[in-house]
Amino acid sequence: MEYSILADVYEKLESISSKLEKTHILADLFSKTPSEDLPKVALLAVGRVFPVYSEYELGIATQMMMKAISKATGFSLNDVEKKFKKTGDLGLTTEDCIKSRKQVILFKKKLTVNTVFENLQKLAYITGVGSQDRKLNLIAELLVSAKPKEARYVVRTILQELRVGVAEGIIRDAIVEAFLYKEGMSKEEKNEMAAAVEYAWNILSDFGEIAKIAKERGVEGLRKVQIQLGKPIQVMLGEKAESIEEIIKEFGKVAVEYKYDGMRAQIQKKGDKIWIYTRRLEDVTKQFADLVEFCKKGIKAKECIVEGEVLGINPETGFPLPFQMLSQRIHRKYDIQKMIKEIPVQIHLFDVLYLEGKPLFDKPFKERRRILESIIKPIPKKFEPAKQLITDDLKEAETFYQEALNAKQEGVFLKVLDSSYVFGRHVGGWYKIKPIMETLDLVIVGATWGVGSRAKWLSSYVLACRDSNTGKFLPCGMMGTGLTEEQFQLMTDTLKELIIDEKGREARIRPKIVVEVAYQEIQKSPNYESGLALRFPRLIRIREDKGPEEADTIERVYELFKSQGRAG
Ligand code: AMP
Repeated sequence: MEYSILADVYEKLESISSKLEKTHILADLFSKTPSEDLPKVALLAVGRVFPVYSEYELGIATQMMMKAISKATGFSLNDVEKKFKKTGDLGLTTEDCIKSRKQVILFKKKLTVNTVFENLQKLAYITGVGSQDRKLNLIAELLVSAKPKEARYVVRTILQELRVGVAEGIIRDAIVEAFLYKEGMSKEEKNEMAAAVEYAWNILSDFGEIAKIAKERGVEGLRKVQIQLGKPIQVMLGEKAESIEEIIKEFGKVAVEYKYDGMRAQIQKKGDKIWIYTRRLEDVTKQFADLVEFCKKGIKAKECIVEGEVLGINPETGFPLPFQMLSQRIHRKYDIQKMIKEIPVQIHLFDVLYLEGKPLFDKPFKERRRILESIIKPIPKKFEPAKQLITDDLKEAETFYQEALNAKQEGVFLKVLDSSYVFGRHVGGWYKIKPIMETLDLVIVGATWGVGSRAKWLSSYVLACRDSNTGKFLPCGMMGTGLTEEQFQLMTDTLKELIIDEKGREARIRPKIVVEVAYQEIQKSPNYESGLALRFPRLIRIREDKGPEEADTIERVYELFKSQGRAG
């Protein structure tokens, strides 16, 4: 299939905001796509060339992309930079450069989906000496054969900034419409189809594979999708609850567990082999060689998937460290033994989802916990079940909550004893109770260089929430407090790489970094594009486990704005 067809679809998707229309456009594209291209088209539709859990990264920085554009179009790097500063979008910059390109192209092959897909994958495989140059040449080659509009989307895909407003739900519905929906089906039947795609997504996390199964084996094929150890599955999350009382009133006896402030780990075991995945399904097995050893000693089952929260421990005092310390271990690929000594870990296990060939999602929570305890051999202070209290006594639950806070943990989870394991955030399953006002996960889209002693740092940050219809980020506040010197330095180092352009002390930043912020209140404000402003936002932590597409939405900020109105 020609890539230009995909480029036209991207353009259409970008120009409309209706989710329903986007779904139709994609369904139409999927049904027209030849089978051999379908997995690629389904991944490219969400701006990817690898499934979410893949360890491969394209790793192309703004600067290298500008060099490639310059090489492909004959414009000087300086010219490319100037154009980029105007739009803040390297996709549009490339399109513009190609339209007015200086080099004459003698021979032009038509770009196919396959060529683009394979070459983008290749970018991730290139490593070692001279890899930067080889990557640059590969991108330039692609751009030379791209028409202006095609180039716009190739570049955005490489930079992982496609932003045509296609989220998971839209792809799911488009797959249903393209391959599963038949004339005359009732709404219930259609919902069942959507549930089958969703189930397959939760197990496989790869829309490429799912589209192929839907086309070739239909709804039954999707329902039969099986867990493959060595591939992560999606996870269950908690709903926020206002009070412990409200939950106990509704559900009676519940399990109260510490909400540990660490890294979620999905541990998979098959014989001697162990895999560890984060909540974003990144494979961190190599980084946590110590945890792998605990699992080998502590898990009695042959094959299973268990979940727990990993805490970093201060080796001198034995007390848990703040998450920021542990986070140093998550992406550290070298000096692993040294890190293990400096920041040893412990895990608190809270669930089991799969055992000896069988999924356990439908078993009630209390039964899963019983199974979990039966398949592990705790190693004190290293490998233990999460602290838990089963009660319907409010006082007892409140004391336990206080104990969790005194132990410097985030709060507690209240888990409904009969609830099954349901992927994502749902009512009737897990409820979290935290002391502070609900925090927001926002994306940094701008920053200002400090003055005086802070002149070396980008020291205040423009925070933005997500518009899920358009994929755009809408500013809703400025943050400059709550950071330590190390954090200012870390932010500066990270954000410097993402600068689009600078005017005076102010820089526009590519939306990549997500931060969790607390604030005093939310106000209406004409000064920000979102129409809302956070008062006194302060940093809780950098959310390395979240990407910009998972940041809180404008609807969420608005909801919080309204709820404080009610409270006040
Ligand atoms: P949040 O990110 O605030 O929605 O909270 C959900 C996260 O809390 C999960 O992804 C886990 O990493 C973490 N967590 C800590 N303790 C527990 C627990 N006992 N049960 C489930 N999740 C927990």
